[in-house]
Amino acid sequence: MPDTQTVDLRSDTVTRPGDAMYDAMRSAPVGDDVYGEDETVNRLERIAAALLDKEAALFTSSATQANLIAMLVHNARGEEVLCGDCYHVFVAEAGGASTLGGVVVHPLPTAEDGSLTREQVLGAIKEDDPHHPITRTLSLENTVSGRVQDPARQRDLVDAVREQGLRSHLDGARLMNAAIATGLSAADIAAPFDSVMLCLSKGLGSPVGALLCGSAAFIERARRQRKQLGGGMRQAGVLAACGLYALEHNVERLADDHARAARLAAGLVAIDGLAVRHATNMVFVEPAADDVAALREHVEARGVLIGTQKPPLRLVTHLDVDDDGIERAIDAFRSFYRH
Ligand SMILES: *Cc1c(COP(=O)(O)O)cnc(C)c1O
Repeated sequence: MPDTQTVDLRSDTVTRPGDAMYDAMRSAPVGDDVYGEDETVNRLERIAAALLDKEAALFTSSATQANLIAMLVHNARGEEVLCGDCYHVFVAEAGGASTLGGVVVHPLPTAEDGSLTREQVLGAIKEDDPHHPITRTLSLENTVSGRVQDPARQRDLVDAVREQGLRSHLDGARLMNAAIATGLSAADIAAPFDSVMLCLSKGLGSPVGALLCGSAAFIERARRQRKQLGGGMRQAGVLAACGLYALEHNVERLADDHARAARLAAGLVAIDGLAVRHATNMVFVEPAADDVAALREHVEARGVLIGTQKPPLRLVTHLDVDDDGIERAIDAFRSFYRH
């Protein structure tokens, strides 16, 4: 069980299953999912497809794998994906689409709020000329480092590139945070996109897994692609059970994570010399460069773990951080600046 002495704010990936989730794993009916015989995986895929209002869904071992599968299905070798230069697909997936799929990724400068403009995206579509890769896909993200992206603006971009024959993918690792923050349904946010990835092991609190959703034809190809990547799992129902539990119990409560992040930001912004930014379940603090190492050491000595090596420092709220943990984190920061 989580060490109650530690307030782990490094990421929302650090949550551990509780007793109820373990119970769900233990009682899940399972079978060989490569044969399509795992009832629990099948149920999770059906529920996810319905949730995002897509025809079909595929359970994958990770969100990175789901994004990679989407990139490999949408794009052939020498074809190109447009995305933001801070988006996970470009910066945090070890170049998988390029190294494994020969896919060109064209990163566009992302605005402070995490968005791209219509002009940028349309301007990056290459002409049909043997010098150029063939621009095939636009890949967007929601949330972008916690920042909710306006679904209407995303729809506008997707509609504009679709007219040029492009496909679209949404990296919705934290799509549910965006849904809870806006009050919109996940299906509404996902609607414009050909494919959507939803991560189960971030704020939703599963130990493993993500879902890739799209048309039945897309998911059929994605299933073969997953197998090719070694991602075909057998009695995966024990893991899918966690995903089902997470979708049932851990979506609405994301509002608590957002409220705790807001409380944390309010506590930290009161400290002189600390620039603070809050978005959904994330808080970013920018201490003076000279303070960073000492500050990290100081708060860690008080059991508060914070993310990223370079400023801004990232603090992320999740299932395993309660109100008391937030107050302890604020106190740890305050005591550093008091001396
Ligand atoms: C975390 C994350 C992923 C990948 O998740 P993994 O579980 O690390 O594979 C993809 N996209 C975004 C936006 C993420 O934050």
